[in-house]
Amino acid sequence: MFQNLVNIFFPKVCLSCNNGLADNEIYVCTNCRHNLPVTNYHLEKSDQVKKVFYGRVKLENATALLRFQKKGIVQHLMHNLKYKGHEEIGTFLGAWLGEELKNLYDYRDIDLVIPVPLHKRKLRKRGYNQVALFSEEIAKSLNIKPTESVLIKVNDTTSQVNKSRLSRWNTSKEIFATQNLELIHNKHILLVDDIITTGATIEACANQLLQAKNVKISIATMAMVE
Ligand SMILES: [Zn+2]
Repeated sequence: MFQNLVNIFFPKVCLSCNNGLADNEIYVCTNCRHNLPVTNYHLEKSDQVKKVFYGRVKLENATALLRFQKKGIVQHLMHNLKYKGHEEIGTFLGAWLGEELKNLYDYRDIDLVIPVPLHKRKLRKRGYNQVALFSEEIAKSLNIKPTESVLIKVNDTTSQVNKSRLSRWNTSKEIFATQNLELIHNKHILLVDDIITTGATIEACANQLLQAKNVKISIATMAMVE
């Protein structure tokens, strides 16, 4: 009775097409689910994602669940996730990818899942890190915990004065730092993010994490621009 009332006032709609969901559907309707452009990279052992990082950062394994196309269904999902408060899209995609990764040999020895962090200011404004639930769900599938205390996003403006011209130009890019680095010594880390476009964010994060002793890095994202 109560649930029916909830559904009348807040009807459950598909996070992709906004049509009403049937009782057995969650997050996304069956039709949209079938139309989501999955990459199957991890299932087919494709190097498609790893290739983006050749010569930039050493990765063990790399995958993305979906193909991102402009004006496509995935862009719509990502927009709802980042700007419309639909944090649950991260849960949906994380549970999906986690279920697939947990059965794969390449991902069997992952020790930690680390989400790409948001700057504190942005976190306050948005209220959530759009990658947090995605990372939690993947970690749950792999029977481990997400670790949010190692990688942090730092504010660079205060120290800009003393930097050379080149590094000042670089400050327009995202800057990450690490703390508690001892937590990741000798670990295989799964670094997770929402979308890979140029790969610059992942590269910056991975290079920070690689400062730890004997650390291996794999990556998994919701989507990749092709
Ligand atoms: Zn739909």
